[in-house]
Amino acid sequence: MKSALMDTPDRIPTLCVTGTENLKGRAEVVAAAAAEHGDAVDRDARFPTETFAAARAQRLLGMMVPVELGGEGASVSDVVDVCYMLGRACASSAMIFAMHQIMVAILVRHTRNSAWHRELLQRLIAEQLLFASSTTENQTGGDVRASACVVERTGTRMALVKNATVMSYGAEADGILTTARRSADSASSDQVLVAFLKKDYELERIVDWDVLGMRGTCSTGFTLRGQGGVEQILPDAYEKIHTQSMVPVAHLTWSGVWTGIAAGAVGRARRFVRGAARHGSGQLPPGAAHLTRAVMSLRALRGSVASALQHYEIAAMTEDGLAALEFQTAMNLLKVNSSESAIETVMSAMQACGLSGYRNSGEFSICRSLRDVLSSSIMINNDRILANAASALLLVDIPALLRD
Ligand SMILES: Cc1cc2nc3c(=O)[nH]c(=O)nc-3n(C[C@H](O)[C@H](O)[C@H](O)COP(=O)(O)OP(=O)(O)OC[C@H]3O[C@@H](n4cnc5c(N)ncnc54)[C@H](O)[C@@H]3O)c2cc1C
Repeated sequence: MKSALMDTPDRIPTLCVTGTENLKGRAEVVAAAAAEHGDAVDRDARFPTETFAAARAQRLLGMMVPVELGGEGASVSDVVDVCYMLGRACASSAMIFAMHQIMVAILVRHTRNSAWHRELLQRLIAEQLLFASSTTENQTGGDVRASACVVERTGTRMALVKNATVMSYGAEADGILTTARRSADSASSDQVLVAFLKKDYELERIVDWDVLGMRGTCSTGFTLRGQGGVEQILPDAYEKIHTQSMVPVAHLTWSGVWTGIAAGAVGRARRFVRGAARHGSGQLPPGAAHLTRAVMSLRALRGSVASALQHYEIAAMTEDGLAALEFQTAMNLLKVNSSESAIETVMSAMQACGLSGYRNSGEFSICRSLRDVLSSSIMINNDRILANAASALLLVDIPALLRD
């Protein structure tokens, strides 16, 4: 079976074919809505309402939920294909879709013995709920493995207050999954993940989201005040959730989004160079060499994400596979590599289009793609990832064979 990421890169594909029912066609409908409203979403820094109305109508929000709970049992690879398709159309739509699906992947893998969360997954299917993620806090910044916020338990009830300085689409979500310290006595790294539905929390706006790119993610800062039953705390410790699901699925889906942004920019550059060649009686414009570079780096990027997906799907079959240091390192470095390559690809596309690419509007503008893709290096800062990976890399062997 072929996927959008595995298609030949120079065709800049838009389609994916999977085992789920007509996923290709349904994702195209959502991508069309995202493309139509992408400029307005960016200009007004507003939530991509039309994309998510279409995603709900096409029943994509619960695509990864197992069949026995009413979902389609789609794979992470299927989701990454949709992220890629949306990324070509509207980066904010794609990133919101990715962040929601990371939460779904966590719920699917880490709540098998929790009746409350199984019911939540069934509600997700029935009501097409959208879940947000809250890890960032003003006290701990981008360090996902440290929380200041604490779960306070009283009998069968629990409550927490979090200074969530960045929370994408917090105001629009139907539920939030948030990290917190297990108890007031716990170390900052002894964390749990708590699921709240909208009725369980209040949000007080504390920081606006007026930023360079990814403007439609509406990643406003809030004080989150949540309460519910203790059964809403996920049974697995966050440490396990982080290594087995949060990191790999985030880095794969985000890579799909950034590759999609890059593919969209390369598509525009290609149309520009073709048009210029037509007007120049077949003579390629001087910027054509930049298009070659853009296509080359896009090919490499797509190949590396597709190969990482294969790695993940095999590793995800066993706990040992997911826990392996080599796998963890590969997933961490994928994020840094994808973000750097996507930025490089979009820059080459911009160079290929010249002033037409630099203009804020017009058929060949690369500006939105460039502003959006620049978020990739700070969305869990590459510096932080590289610093954390350095000691692990000393323990990972260099493979003996090229295809090992
Ligand atoms: C589009 C977008 C959407 C987001 N959505 C959400 C969301 O929904 N929920 C959520 O919780 N968060 C969200 N975030 C926040 C994100 O998860 C990170 O917390 C945030 O991007 C980290 O920002 P930072 O670089 O300032 O923080 P930090 O990682 O704390 O870095 C701060 C500075 O320190 C440097 N630095 C950090 N560690 C090291 C190191 N080890 N070595 C050298 N230098 C280092 C960095 O280079 C940087 O200059 C979002 C971010 C973006 C861009």
